[in-house]
Amino acid sequence: MKEQYDSREGYCKMLGHFLTFEYCRTSNKGIPCSKVLDCWFESFDVQHWLGENFSATEQRSIFQAVKPKIVSLAEILEQAQQRLKKEE
Ligand code: SF4
Repeated sequence: MKEQYDSREGYCKMLGHFLTFEYCRTSNKGIPCSKVLDCWFESFDVQHWLGENFSATEQRSIFQAVKPKIVSLAEILEQAQQRLKKEE
């Protein structure tokens, strides 16, 4: 059952405060945060929990590399420049 650890509490280094596992389980557009293994392995067998509740494909989407912000920003700027060129 996906919700069985929802009430566990832990400190989130990313957000800087305590939260429950329920947040971590759903914080990535409804799927677990990509840091879920790092943050929860000491509290319960989170690897087993993932295997029980998510397919291999779903697990890949959870842990797929997050683009660094600077790359995303560069892409946004490039798209804006291309839009401006089309409007000229
Ligand atoms: S799994 Fe993500 S949201 Fe949850 S404590 Fe870790 S970094 Fe924070």
